[in-house]
Amino acid sequence: MTRTRTVCPFCGCGCSFYLLSDGDRVTGIEPSPSNPINKGMLCVKGWNAHEFIHSPERLTSPLIRKHGELVESTWDVLITVPGSDTVPQWSVWPQHSVPVL
Ligand code: SF4
Repeated sequence: MTRTRTVCPFCGCGCSFYLLSDGDRVTGIEPSPSNPINKGMLCVKGWNAHEFIHSPERLTSPLIRKHGELVESTWDVLITVPGSDTVPQWSVWPQHSVPVL
């Protein structure tokens, strides 16, 4: 069993917990007692934050709409804005930058 400390993705409170994993499967959550925000506690969303990781409904690639249908795409396609001369703002950032919304 591996414990990996991370931050809850569901709201801006910043609660911290450990993801419990067995091989490549995340199996549970353990609240971080040392985090001053949540002090070893989590709300119901935090306790279940690991359940989407292996969901078959999870999006694993970006989707774009083509002729009214959502189809899988790649980040490269989205960054170049197909069919447009528009240069996305983040293309002027250093090569290894990661934009975050
Ligand atoms: S555990 Fe609950 S309160 Fe804490 S960050 Fe996650 S959603 Fe927000």
